[in-house]
Amino acid sequence: MKFDLHCHTTCSDGQLSPEALVQRAVEKGIDVLAITDHDVLAAYQAAKAHIDREALALTLLPGVEVSCKWHAFEIHVVGLGVNPEHPPLVAFLQGQRDSRDERALEIGRRLEKANIPNAYQGARAIAGTASISRSHYAQYLVQIGKANSVANVFKKYLARGKTGYVPSNWCSIEQACAAIVDAGGVPVLAHPGSYNMTARWLRELIQTFKAAGGIAMEVAQPQQSPTDRQQLALYCEQYGLLASAGSDFHYPSAWTELGRNLQLPMRCKPVWQHWPQWADISQ
Ligand code: AMP
Ligand code: MN
Ligand code: MN
Ligand code: MN
Repeated sequence: MKFDLHCHTTCSDGQLSPEALVQRAVEKGIDVLAITDHDVLAAYQAAKAHIDREALALTLLPGVEVSCKWHAFEIHVVGLGVNPEHPPLVAFLQGQRDSRDERALEIGRRLEKANIPNAYQGARAIAGTASISRSHYAQYLVQIGKANSVANVFKKYLARGKTGYVPSNWCSIEQACAAIVDAGGVPVLAHPGSYNMTARWLRELIQTFKAAGGIAMEVAQPQQSPTDRQQLALYCEQYGLLASAGSDFHYPSAWTELGRNLQLPMRCKPVWQHWPQWADISQ
């Protein structure tokens, strides 16, 4: 069976609608998909309704990706299998989006001072009804020719320490895990290989996450070396965590695809074993 437990839609900074995303997941042979938009659950209902209407052979696991502050880092915690209508979780995520909206305004002011007027309006137009993320700013800055790629906008303007970087008032790892568990979900440490931290910090992060009630960690991500994947599998074993697999898909491109290259190493206990219907599936 094929699982992809991390991806995005237009409800946050992804570029496919919830309907188009689940359609694509079926085309890519995925059996179980979790949509994990940034700090919002809105895609679930729309995607589920589409699956039912079209009788698609796809199981949708409700999900979310929560932004957290930990020391000087921004850490992401994915919640899998949460009840998308759990009122405390819904309220908690609204608070996160309020912080996001405040930060978006401040990013706009900073860019204005750096002689890039109307960036907030530009990002707003791209985000549509979603909360503005840095990706929306990055897309706008590419549009007006400030850089030739989204990655370069991050390097020049939006990464930590650059003109347009504004630290946000994100929740703690403990608060994110508690909110996810309270809503019946499984907290998963997202893309541990992409925080740009030393191995020592990473081990400290994993310990903090585990102590906060964390259950699993993403081990398989599409653009990672076999050695890095093995290392993460080893950490799972050492710290008693289940292993998850997710593409973090945001849009179709030559480098990014749903479900691609997500094989878990043999030693891993997959996170889906947490649910009785998939308890015996090793891959
Ligand atoms: P935010 O949640 O608003 O802080 O935005 C973070 C999002 O920006 C991530 O979820 C990615 O989708 C995207 N992102 C972060 N860093 C980069 C980067 N270096 N290049 C391209 N996209 C990035
Ligand atoms: Mn994103
Ligand atoms: Mn993330
Ligand atoms: Mn993500």
